[in-house]
Amino acid sequence: MTLKTPEEYLESIKRPVNLYMFGEKIEEFWNHPIIRPSINTVMKIYELAQMDEYKELMTATSHLTGELINRFTHIHQSTEDLIKKVKMQRLLGQKTACCFQRCVGFDTANALYSVTYEMDKELGTQYHERFKKYWIEVQNQDLMVGGAMTDPKGNRGKRPKDQDDPDAFLHIIDETNDGIIINGAKIHQTGFLNSHRAIIMPTLTFREGEEEYAVTCGVDTNAQGITMIYGRQASDTRKLEEGKLDIGNFKYGGQEIFVIFDNVFIPNEHVFMKGELHYASELVQRFAGFHRQSYGGCKVGIGDALIGASALIAENHGVERSSHIRDKLVEMTHLNETLFSSGIACSALGHQRPAGSYEMDMLLANVCKLNVTRFPYEIARLAEDIAGGLIATMPSEEDLKSEETGPLLKKYLTTSQEHPPEERFKLLRFIENLSLGVAAVSYRTESLHGAGSPQAQRIMISRQAKFEDKKGLAKDILDIE
Ligand code: SF4
Ligand code: FE
Repeated sequence: MTLKTPEEYLESIKRPVNLYMFGEKIEEFWNHPIIRPSINTVMKIYELAQMDEYKELMTATSHLTGELINRFTHIHQSTEDLIKKVKMQRLLGQKTACCFQRCVGFDTANALYSVTYEMDKELGTQYHERFKKYWIEVQNQDLMVGGAMTDPKGNRGKRPKDQDDPDAFLHIIDETNDGIIINGAKIHQTGFLNSHRAIIMPTLTFREGEEEYAVTCGVDTNAQGITMIYGRQASDTRKLEEGKLDIGNFKYGGQEIFVIFDNVFIPNEHVFMKGELHYASELVQRFAGFHRQSYGGCKVGIGDALIGASALIAENHGVERSSHIRDKLVEMTHLNETLFSSGIACSALGHQRPAGSYEMDMLLANVCKLNVTRFPYEIARLAEDIAGGLIATMPSEEDLKSEETGPLLKKYLTTSQEHPPEERFKLLRFIENLSLGVAAVSYRTESLHGAGSPQAQRIMISRQAKFEDKKGLAKDILDIE
């Protein structure tokens, strides 16, 4: 059976890693209260894939082995697969209300599959078969794979070679007969600690002379020479407190890691690109396209949960029939479904690559992500509007439980007999979490900067916009030569 159960997944990540948080080395990270919710989130992926109800979206048949696999390890074989991907991501966003971390490696694999095929055809390299072998292992063991793209980049005005510190961009520092040795760092690495493996890829397009940076390879996340530093998120230490209500989303959460690679050895069989400059930029673009498509699913699912919480708090406050509240909920839904529309559209208009795999429509995927850089902010603003100022001023759970202040808070926070004050407390904290707190990383800042900042989408849109064709249309109608 290729599908891991959630428990098997949990057991499989219990391995020694070099991890730090708050300046201290962390052992047995799977028991750490700040980290555990992010593991629960990934376990949810494994859980849903076991359930008949969700099999259609959560699993696929491998074109490499014919086995039933988790969709997160699938190489898209049709536009239907692309659509199912986005629907699956919406489902997981709905179930967890946070970043579920498994899409980056998924998107990297799909980009790398077609790029290595084309690279081998043109250059006579042997990367595609190598990558297939690597990915069959991933499918057969249902491994969680991260994708490591973003370098620290040093001075943004300088090329990699001209940086004061040569490691500002991850690069090959040495080579042996058996493999390569790399140095550098990858920052804001989604789910890196929870992944068994990660695929490292370049962050930029490179010029001649920058071959050492054009490297793509697979690495085990516990490999010798890797140091991880856990990324903070707003209000994260609330997870260390006694109660759970102040956390907001007390079951699930995202995970971002600062990863340092210090003389990490990569065996040849895990190297999928080494100096092929043109294909490095192809890989960056295709990966970004797939990941921008992803946001038309995951952010929509989180948006669904936020709209639901907003509707519930309106009921709790007794204003659910008020026309301006209904109007705000409709506006939130309109924005959210617009995001979904572009996620589905770029999937439905996908195309086949020479490798046989399918890729989303690049223009529409970038339009999708550019919408994602705006709409969740407006949805969160409307949620805050409906929730009221109490989301920013409410006393703690301890005060709610205290013998002295508890009865007072309950007296003044009760809205009606049907709704216990704890329910209002939970909803307000959940909305706070999504719009201001920990999950703001996966709902707001990640909507802006994840899969590339807005300017990156504008550049891709301008490249695909076909302005000359459009000028031709106007000229034809107006008889302009
Ligand atoms: Fe997946 Fe969304 Fe998280 Fe990216 S931000 S890994 S697409 S859930
Ligand atoms: Fe992301």
